[in-house]
Amino acid sequence: MDQVKIGKFISECRKKNNLTQMQLAEKLNITDRAISKWETGKAMPDSGIMLDLCNELKITVNELLIGEMIDMKDYDKKTEELLLKMQKQKEESDRRLLTIEIVMGVITLIMYCALVMGVGFLPIKESTQILIIILATILIVIMAFVALRIEQIAGYYECRKCHHKYVPTYSNVLWAMHVCRTRYMKCPKCHKHSWQKKVISK
Ligand SMILES: [Zn+2]
Repeated sequence: MDQVKIGKFISECRKKNNLTQMQLAEKLNITDRAISKWETGKAMPDSGIMLDLCNELKITVNELLIGEMIDMKDYDKKTEELLLKMQKQKEESDRRLLTIEIVMGVITLIMYCALVMGVGFLPIKESTQILIIILATILIVIMAFVALRIEQIAGYYECRKCHHKYVPTYSNVLWAMHVCRTRYMKCPKCHKHSWQKKVISK
C-alpha cells in the first residue's frame, strides 16, 4: 500500500468535507497528531478506526486503501486489484519474517554456544558465570517463543488430506510434533491429523 498516496487522499477528503485536523480528530476521539501522521504518510489508520474514518470522510474502505475515489463502473476491478496487491504484500512480508526467524535463530544459537563454552575462561567469579549462563538460557527460551510466534502467523499450514490452508492457534503450533516447519496437526476443516507443510500463498 502506498502510505503517502493514502495520506494525501485523507487530507483531500478531509478538506472536501470542510474539516480541520482538529475537528476530524475530535469526531474520531483521537489526537490531531495521529491525523497529521496519516496525512504525511508516516502511519496508517489502524483497522479499528478505519470504518469511522471512512464514514466521516464519506468514502469507502477500498477507496481509503487505494488512496483514490473509485468510479462505480471500475469498482469490482479495482477491489480485485487491491486484494491481489494486499495478498502479494502479505506473502512478501511473510517470506521476510520466515527468513528473519532463521537468521535470528542461527545467530542466537551460535552466540549461546560461544558464551557457554567461553564463560569458563573469563576471569570472573563462578557464581557470576552461572548467572550469565542462566540469563542466556532465559534469553534463548524467549527467542524460541518469538520464533514460534513467527511460524504461527507467517503464511499458512496446508492440510495434507483436504488441502485446506489455515493459520493455527499458538498452542496448536507449540504442542505439535514437528520436523523443521512441517507440523503434525489436526485440520480445522476435515478434523483429520496429518503432517502439514508451511505454505506462503493461499
Ligand atoms: Zn483437512
